[in-house]
Amino acid sequence: MGIMRNFRRRRLSQEVFTPDVPVQWRRLVSYIRPYLGWLAIAIVALVMSSVLGLVFPAVIQQVVDSVLEQRDLALLDQITLLLLAVFLLRSLTSLVETYATNYAGERVVMDIRVALYNRLLSFSLGFFANTRVGELISRMSNDVGRMQSALTSSLTQLLSQSLTMVGAITIMFVINWRLSLFILVMVPITVFVSLFFGLGFRRYSERVQERIAEATIVAEEVFQNIREVKSFAREPYEKGRYRGAIQEAFDATVKLLRIRAVFGPFVAFMGFGGLSLVLWFGGREVLDGRLTGGALISFLIYGLTVAANFASLVRLYATFQEALGASKRVFYLLDSAPDVEDAPNAQHLNRVEGRITLDNARFAYEEDLDVLHDISLDVAPGEIVALVGPSGSGKSTIFNLIPRFYDVQHGAVRVDGTDVREIAQESLREHIGIVPQETLLFGGTIRDNILYGRLDASEDEMMAAAAAANAHEFIMALPKQYDTLVGERGVKLSGGQRQRVAIARAILKDPRILLLDEATSSLDNESEHLVQEALGRLMQDRTTLIIAHRLSTVRVAHRIAVIEAGNIVELGTHDELMANNGLYARLYDMQFRNADLLATEAN
Ligand code: ADP
Repeated sequence: MGIMRNFRRRRLSQEVFTPDVPVQWRRLVSYIRPYLGWLAIAIVALVMSSVLGLVFPAVIQQVVDSVLEQRDLALLDQITLLLLAVFLLRSLTSLVETYATNYAGERVVMDIRVALYNRLLSFSLGFFANTRVGELISRMSNDVGRMQSALTSSLTQLLSQSLTMVGAITIMFVINWRLSLFILVMVPITVFVSLFFGLGFRRYSERVQERIAEATIVAEEVFQNIREVKSFAREPYEKGRYRGAIQEAFDATVKLLRIRAVFGPFVAFMGFGGLSLVLWFGGREVLDGRLTGGALISFLIYGLTVAANFASLVRLYATFQEALGASKRVFYLLDSAPDVEDAPNAQHLNRVEGRITLDNARFAYEEDLDVLHDISLDVAPGEIVALVGPSGSGKSTIFNLIPRFYDVQHGAVRVDGTDVREIAQESLREHIGIVPQETLLFGGTIRDNILYGRLDASEDEMMAAAAAANAHEFIMALPKQYDTLVGERGVKLSGGQRQRVAIARAILKDPRILLLDEATSSLDNESEHLVQEALGRLMQDRTTLIIAHRLSTVRVAHRIAVIEAGNIVELGTHDELMANNGLYARLYDMQFRNADLLATEAN
């Protein structure tokens, strides 16, 4: 239950995280471990390229002090050739280094994305009922994207710039320690200010991420419900809502921007201002004879290198802060345990008879709000039981418990006498077919949609299932037949056609247990007849629970369970219940006579 409760209390983005930075880095590094080979190559190349980069100022010193002073043309030629070789080699090493790090980084990001997706798929329906899809999408795209930038180019930049800095500082000390010390006094000030800025960065970039996620969610929801938006002509309202969400993201971004805008130039000033002072101090050293002119020039170049590297290190620090914020949210999801999980020694059912038992099953979606009150029901293999009752009485909830989409809080749900909590979920659901009230198909072809019932079915088996579902004929009349694309969620098929595709899918799956939720929307007579006939074939020789809205359906049931406010208030055959003269008889009188709809309203 743990995570479900968490998600119910507050939204993902508002979760309070402990900023445990070292732990996060360890986690990140654990993802890098498989690609240490690539990283090793990158580091070797990187060290070489940094060292080669440090050669240049030393060469300049040679040129100034030896070549220019002694007017040695031959030496100038040699030095130029050497320089060309150095730069060529440096380009090659940096090529290797860029490729190797980016390759490793991209692999890590791919692993994290896949791990995150797999994790999300393992969460229960309860989790998805309590989490907005847009938020998950934003985790997978934006947050993982941010981690990517930290793991790829930035990571090597960090290494190469640190190396170059250490190298340059060392050389500077060798050239003239007094001048170097003078520079080092300025460093702590810059570092302190940088840290201060870094904190602001982190806070605002997290806020920006959250706001962007919020805006994405709004857009996502609108696109998903575009029909409602258009039919209520709520485009202006939705435009305003999105605009508002984006505005908040923008406002947060502006704050981040301000910090960033001040920060870069500030660091640059510290660097270059410092260099001017160095020139002043160094000039005096030259005049005092403690430094040659060439050494001062090369000293300045090293100093510039250090300043530039330091500035971009600080920029990198911001990138890492952003990545840390993102990885926090990603790891939070990765570390959450699904609330419906297989028991350690869960059974695999190869064959089932199809007995379904609800044994004093009590269930609540929200704590202390029981939706089912200790209900008991025993359905024999092959039996058809119709569930009828007012909307909201708990019929669909009973359906949710049998494939273990949710766990009961008290009592048990059993299949063939085994508690569903002791059966591996995959194996349990393998034996259960579900035909929902409103069938949503995947956006691919009709073939893909039917084969979803059994991925390895042959073409003949698939067509036989379609024929049994009264779907083959209409499919063959379509321009591309089984290869027809059904459109997003199946919108290009009529309601009756979609249902028959769903029935074909269930027939192909051939489960022992069937959960049918009859459509409340009335189809035209022709379609209705075809669907009923297909359902009849589907139910044959299977244990079936059906949420019934039509007299014709109730008639084929062996028994009828009348559900009211989470209780089974009546149970028996149609004739028995009519004789009982209770709720069923009343519902029957009220509903069937006129509309042939048993539930009081569409669910
Ligand atoms: P029926 O199928 O008989 O119309 P349901 O089983 O769908 O009724 O719903 C029973 C009760 O449970 C209703 O009060 C409904 O609001 C509530 N309910 C259904 N699904 C959820 C959910 N995911 N979270 C919280 N409450 C729910």
